[in-house]
Amino acid sequence: MQRVLIDIALVEREIDRARRLFGMFYEVFAQRGTSFGPSLAAHDAIASDCYQAIRQAAPRIFSGPLLKPVCYMEHGYSPATMRRGIQMSRLLGEANPFPLIRIPWDRDQPWQSVFLHEVAHNLQADLGIWQENRQAVVRRMLQSTRNPFLTSVYGRWHKEIFADLAAILLGGPAAAWGMADFLAQPVPRTMTYRPGGAHPTAYLRVQMLAEMLRRLGFARDSEQLTRTWQTLYQREGGHRIPPQLISSASRVIPAVVDEIAFQTRRNLAHRALADIILFSREDQAAIREGANALIHRQSRDVMNLPPRFLVSAAAYALASGRAAPQQLARQVINLLNQQSGNARMKPALNAPLRLVA
Ligand SMILES: [Zn+2]
Repeated sequence: MQRVLIDIALVEREIDRARRLFGMFYEVFAQRGTSFGPSLAAHDAIASDCYQAIRQAAPRIFSGPLLKPVCYMEHGYSPATMRRGIQMSRLLGEANPFPLIRIPWDRDQPWQSVFLHEVAHNLQADLGIWQENRQAVVRRMLQSTRNPFLTSVYGRWHKEIFADLAAILLGGPAAAWGMADFLAQPVPRTMTYRPGGAHPTAYLRVQMLAEMLRRLGFARDSEQLTRTWQTLYQREGGHRIPPQLISSASRVIPAVVDEIAFQTRRNLAHRALADIILFSREDQAAIREGANALIHRQSRDVMNLPPRFLVSAAAYALASGRAAPQQLARQVINLLNQQSGNARMKPALNAPLRLVA
């Protein structure tokens, strides 16, 4: 009889796993049948394009086909992500089968560069450079500062800095401005160091974005962003950031940006992040042109702009004040849906890979 009781419990366990999986997928996919469907499909297209950008620049970098990231809506202040393969407690420890990107209900407009940041977390995991990046940052910090505190802090921040820098490579200067926008909080928040926190203190984080722009050759954006940030936040005005972090920033930030974006990695076949996600002045010019076309509602002119660049073009169009936000969101969401619809109509070269990023 004891054996029977255990057998029943084992069956119950499998049913519970299936029930939890069903529940999660149902919550994620049932939203596709609501008015949020087109916006979610648009965000899927952006995420998928970020993977395409890497596949183009570095064709064999991913070991094979990968299930695409899937976006869903949930309450929350900022977008968030659950990487592929991580064990999920809501699935009784079952691995997450594809990257899930959570979008807060009110952030469903396709011009949020923080979305590119979330996709970048998944790229870091899927490229297999999570550990290598952390080790490289720790080594570099130890060598250049000989300071265990700074080393442990930047080592802990490695993945957020990675995602920020990769987001700039995906979206260009507009991504840096978009993230700075997101980080522009009241002084106490922006200038308080959080012990053990995964995110760099915002005061320093935006300085890293500016440094990345400088390294990519966007000096004007870099200077403007630095000046804007210095106007909003002055260290003389008081802060709660350890003095070592402040006094070392001008030396450490260029080093950490160099290490994460421009130093080669074994798992990238001896290339750097900036070699496998390419962003050039021509890309920026195309984004600017795209913004203009969006403002004048000439959708056909932006049809060939890659979805990840469309995020930045839409952000510029919005910032110009010459496009009505709701109309602009609709226009861009339609475009992204059309683009991925067209891609699906193309001759079936990789027909079975339609779900693949
Ligand atoms: Zn993040």
